[in-house]
Amino acid sequence: MAEYPHLLAPLDLGFTTLKNRVLMGSMHTGLEETKDWNRVAEFYAARARGEVALMVTGGIGPNLEGSVLPGAAMMVSDQDVANHRIVTDRVHAAGGKIAMQILHAGRYAYGPKCVAPSAIKSPISPFAPAELDEAGIEKQISDIVTCAARAREAGYDGVEIMGSEGYFLNQFLVTHTNKRQDCWGGSYENRMRLPIEVVRRVRAAVGTDFILIYRLSMIDLVPNGSTHDEVVQLAQEIEKAGTTIINTGIGWHEARIPTIATSVPRAAFAWVTKKLMGKVGIPVITSNRINTPEVAEEVLATGCADMVSMARPMLADADFVVKAMQGKSNQIAPCIACNQACLDHTFSGKISSCLVNPRACYETELRITPTTTPKSVAVVGAGPAGLSTAITAAERGHQVTLFDQAEEIGGQLNMAKQVPGKEEFWGLVDWYRTRVDTTGIKLSLGKTVRAEDLAGYDEVVIATGVVPRDPGIKGQTAPTVVSYIDVLRGKVEVGPRVAIVGAGGIGFDVAEFLVHKGVSPTESLPDWMREWGVTDPAEHRAGLAPEGPQPEPAARQVTLLQRKAEKPGKRLGKTTGWIHRAALTMKGVKMIAGVNYERVEDGGLLVSFGEGRETPTLIEADTIVLCAGQLPERTLADALAEGGTACHVIGGADVAAELDAKRAIDQGTRLAAQL
Ligand code: FAD
Ligand code: NAP
Ligand code: SF4
Repeated sequence: MAEYPHLLAPLDLGFTTLKNRVLMGSMHTGLEETKDWNRVAEFYAARARGEVALMVTGGIGPNLEGSVLPGAAMMVSDQDVANHRIVTDRVHAAGGKIAMQILHAGRYAYGPKCVAPSAIKSPISPFAPAELDEAGIEKQISDIVTCAARAREAGYDGVEIMGSEGYFLNQFLVTHTNKRQDCWGGSYENRMRLPIEVVRRVRAAVGTDFILIYRLSMIDLVPNGSTHDEVVQLAQEIEKAGTTIINTGIGWHEARIPTIATSVPRAAFAWVTKKLMGKVGIPVITSNRINTPEVAEEVLATGCADMVSMARPMLADADFVVKAMQGKSNQIAPCIACNQACLDHTFSGKISSCLVNPRACYETELRITPTTTPKSVAVVGAGPAGLSTAITAAERGHQVTLFDQAEEIGGQLNMAKQVPGKEEFWGLVDWYRTRVDTTGIKLSLGKTVRAEDLAGYDEVVIATGVVPRDPGIKGQTAPTVVSYIDVLRGKVEVGPRVAIVGAGGIGFDVAEFLVHKGVSPTESLPDWMREWGVTDPAEHRAGLAPEGPQPEPAARQVTLLQRKAEKPGKRLGKTTGWIHRAALTMKGVKMIAGVNYERVEDGGLLVSFGEGRETPTLIEADTIVLCAGQLPERTLADALAEGGTACHVIGGADVAAELDAKRAIDQGTRLAAQL
């Protein structure tokens, strides 16, 4: 408590009290759609046991036309009420509180029946919405109100009305999407009529002793979005209409400015929420890129908000708040804001989980239980695969020895953390180090393990990772040709003009590393805002700087090459690939697809195009960096197999193709759960 006095202070709402200032923000995990209500209940109950003060569910549709997707969860029937009751009962039994988010997606609803204030298609959806008439608007209000009343019947402690991120209610607020001439469009008073009416009627339906959170878009980050004055006016009106708490929304989904990715500075938008503080009489919650108790405490202590919303950090560690209460912040599994297992899954129709915590949303399936037969376990390789095996096995009660030939744990994560915008990987490696220490693992560093070193263990796990693929380009032994490993470890000088062979995740990261100099914008909020063209919404509508993005000039001239004819970066993360492409484009990086590598020449790299190897072109470069993918490092696994020693092979040592830390950690954890 002494460490985080603001974060752990209760919040009195009059008719009820929240035990601390942590809200678990809404996340669409896909769990509700599994219809396995025991699984849904266990997911939320685990976070309730972890002492989160109030949780908000994923968005639940009030009707078919407003649902995000066909088949998405709705609250429209007695059966829905009964299903949700399983969740609320379990959360209450665990001492928690939970609110249901009512999400009407408007023109973002992914289906031909979507509706909106005006018939304007969104740039991120193939479906043009139908413009609502007066009766249609009344139906939407009435469906939202009925949905809220059913939420109360199902035992929820409150509802959150989703009014931000460019969804239905947000679409009425701004001329970007509302071109109506009737009483729902035109003046701002008319455009905000719908959100106010919704809040007023929901409050009337649910009574006074029920939490009503309104998620309000405080900086739209799209053209013709709201001004700060309009945000304040709306906040004051929805307070009068019966809102209990205002939560912050940042940016519309169609905005071309990153708002939660790992390259966004921590608590990057808390200052936006702060602008509303003192202008309303109800508590205000801030959000986005808050992922440690220290950052949350700072945000509250500096008066940016009354409460913080953390969503993904609660996937990474269900016990976030408990550990903060116990002064064990360094044991909290950190959300690195990668989106790889949460949002990327959501947008690929898969159930969410978490890269650092594969148990997230799999609580009922992936159980880590104490072993009844403790064994001696050798794990070779302290990258993410080996670390997750070693830590999970040790937690279960096995005697674990973890080896790595390097002088530090982390494997390739130690290269990832060097990339500007990936600073969160430092915290991930630090967390692993703490977990190794606290679980009593015997750590052996700085020695290459051979087969004969592994005699006498009950179980041997090989997690030796990968080796770079040799692309076999003519002339690649020239001193100008280097590996990404040497570049990221700072072992070679890189010239002013660079050609990168391979435009996978590592090629993109190496390009990012080479175009930057000095402090990473992720570490400097003013630089980051300038880089992406974000400004104060009190000065410029929607927080868009009129001059647009103003990136620092690139430190080097970089050309990124690939053989496939497809768009470079197409296979990067679903929700983050566009950010990597945009960031490099802003830095003037040339991306060339469909090349054949002919040979390394004095002035650079000669490439040609097409099957006929036409249009020979010299890519002028002082340095050529090879990022041509990776192959499994199986020297040790093969030697053990030859000697007849059984072993488990995981991570990159198992399959290098399309390997990432998510797969490595998941595989390592699942193996250890069974040892
Ligand atoms: P590794 O991390 O390669 O670890 C293997 C370990 O085994 C090494 O530490 C090595 O020293 C040790 N070892 C090998 N042989 C022996 C031996 N005989 N004796 C003792 N020790 C041995 N993934 C993501 O999911 N998201 C990202 O954003 C991301 N960014 C990346 C950025 C960069 C620049 C790089 C290089 C990788 C990135 N990755 C990312 C990929 C991710 O780091 C790898 O997929 C992951 O580290 C593979 O885990 P691993 O445990 O299988 O192997
Ligand atoms: P990768 O994504 O498989 O990319 C390898 C690149 O090398 C591709 O562009 C490929 O394109 C090229 N290539 C393959 N064989 C080649 C050859 N023989 N000669 C020349 N070029 C060749 O691998 P990576 O970039 O090394 O990344 C390794 C893993 O780390 C990936 O699975 C990735 O998911 C993960 N990672 C993830 C992130 C992240 O942000 N999520 C970041 C970094 C790394 P062409 O074959 O078309 O030339
Ligand atoms: Fe955070 Fe990445 Fe886990 Fe999502 S997958 S919760 S962004 S660490």
